[in-house]
Amino acid sequence: MAEGGLVAETPEELYHRALAAADAEGRLPLPPVDTWETFPFDGELRARPLLPPLPAEKPRLGEDAADCWRCAQGDEDAIWTDERWLLTPLPEPSGLPVIVILQPRAHHDLGDLPPELAAELGPLIVRIERAVASVGEIGRVHVGRWGDGSAHLHFWFIARPARLPQTVGSFAAIWDDILPPTPEPIWRANLAAVAAAMSG
Ligand SMILES: [Zn+2]
Repeated sequence: MAEGGLVAETPEELYHRALAAADAEGRLPLPPVDTWETFPFDGELRARPLLPPLPAEKPRLGEDAADCWRCAQGDEDAIWTDERWLLTPLPEPSGLPVIVILQPRAHHDLGDLPPELAAELGPLIVRIERAVASVGEIGRVHVGRWGDGSAHLHFWFIARPARLPQTVGSFAAIWDDILPPTPEPIWRANLAAVAAAMSG
């Protein structure tokens, strides 16, 4: 312990502290999801038993550039590129009107992004937000970076429809799986609008 400093709680300590609030099966009480308009599910629900910490983090897809799918893919799926960045769609339509992914061409994660790329990132995020919003009838463009699946840095730009009150907030990503896929011609037109706005 650093003198006078705070001590971080280990995952094991967090787990045991949480278990003290759980039932005999390790299930924690639910927050009041039945009062949340955006919560996508209904009926009797219970939390899954909390699992204990793993000995180590699971490796992600493409931790090494040598076996990174993004590096192998090149830029043929991109709807917009420049010398250092790619903007790509999902492989097929999903429930929300349009989702695009921003990635550097080179194999970096957020924490090891070189200074010149880091300096470009802020203006690029703003530019892509505007381009996705230009599709029309978009209520918000959510910008997300989780990075727990693939190691190659990727930012999500998730457009939620305007005026559908249940799709606001972070559950938009779940509604994307629940809503029927956007019809292919509309999805392609939405991607073309994003690409046109990026090139304009
Ligand atoms: Zn890569």
